[in-house]
Amino acid sequence: MTMCLLCHREIAAPLTLWQLINFQPITEQIVCTRCRQAFSAIDPQLGCQSCGRLSDQKKCSDCERWSSEIEFSNRACYTYNTAMKAYMSQYKFNGDYRLRTVFQLEIQREIQASKCDVVVPIPLHPDTLAARGFNQVEGLIGELPMLRALTTISATKAQHQSAKNRKQRLTTAQPFKLAVDSMQLYRKNVLIVDDVYTTGRTIRHAALLLKKAGATTVKGLTLAHG
Ligand SMILES: [Zn+2]
Ligand SMILES: [Zn+2]
Repeated sequence: MTMCLLCHREIAAPLTLWQLINFQPITEQIVCTRCRQAFSAIDPQLGCQSCGRLSDQKKCSDCERWSSEIEFSNRACYTYNTAMKAYMSQYKFNGDYRLRTVFQLEIQREIQASKCDVVVPIPLHPDTLAARGFNQVEGLIGELPMLRALTTISATKAQHQSAKNRKQRLTTAQPFKLAVDSMQLYRKNVLIVDDVYTTGRTIRHAALLLKKAGATTVKGLTLAHG
């Protein structure tokens, strides 16, 4: 009997005939229906075109401020609600690497649907990586090909974003540098993947750098928007 990875209760529902016929992947079974339903998906048609948050405007007021910096659009799959925060905390801060599989398939489908040439994960500061043992973003991408094109140059990413106020977060200096030859990005359509879009500062810094390296387009994909 399988246990739900999130609430640790038994997953009662057996495989249905429909699932068997359609070869529904087993990964669908690692979280119970109740936990799964607590996540709130964002319909891409109803999101801000720029940051991906649920919005009735094509470009939300937060994104208006970025307009002059760089043309950028992010797709966020879920709102950062209580369930998603609990998931992130279990996955990242408690370091339960198995939890990457909860959304892996979905992230992989989004990556494939984006038709990008190159997938670039947002890197962790080496200290965070050493403490956690894994990069949660790479866990979500799984075995799909990715290019570790970025590396952190300072402790900026490690000075926990959450500890800063909004203004400080928006004005932080470029925390990344290129880790690969720019030829690997030249004329490529790049998709940056991160776990949570908060102010947008981190992913936009990354986008700016990749664009300067010669990428034709740079888009973002985040699991959540909060
Ligand atoms: Zn559950
Ligand atoms: Zn927006």
